[in-house]
Amino acid sequence: MTGITPLLDRNEKFAAGYTPAPLGPPAAQLLILGCLDHRADPAIILGLQLGDAVVIRNTGGRVTGAVIDDIAYLTYLAGQLFGGQAFAASGFEVAIIQHTQCAAGFLADPGFRRQAAAATGVPEATLEASAVADPHVTVTEDVERLLSSPLLHPAVRVSGRVYDIATGRLTTAMDARHPQPLRR
Ligand SMILES: [Zn+2]
Repeated sequence: MTGITPLLDRNEKFAAGYTPAPLGPPAAQLLILGCLDHRADPAIILGLQLGDAVVIRNTGGRVTGAVIDDIAYLTYLAGQLFGGQAFAASGFEVAIIQHTQCAAGFLADPGFRRQAAAATGVPEATLEASAVADPHVTVTEDVERLLSSPLLHPAVRVSGRVYDIATGRLTTAMDARHPQPLRR
């Protein structure tokens, strides 16, 4: 018996009523970047169904080099699979969701970060890039960072939102917008 064992019954029930989602662009035209915190699962807080959205999760829901690479590849792939024109016209949005009470807040403390780096072998700079002291501030920085990346497809819009663990509500920190100026 392991942690997942009791959940295998839930999978049985899921599979019994299952219809596979067809291969196609995400129905909600959305890629969500969120924190890996188990209290802030985008599928649950947004009521996502299979095929609705691509979801990337990491510590803090921060825009890192790895996230930018993933988004660049996924948008390239979407253009190849579903047609560049259709994709460009789709209004595809990257929604960055960070949250209150984020444990990545500890990483904003240099002392904690130093200790964590020594104990885990993860470089301090990597840990610092994951820090979320105030999600309203970091989500805004991350929208700007992604928008200014030369790897971002010009048709993609980026937005920033904060999920409140206490209320279950999302608020908008930055509305969706295109990179400026729009590159063609
Ligand atoms: Zn978090």
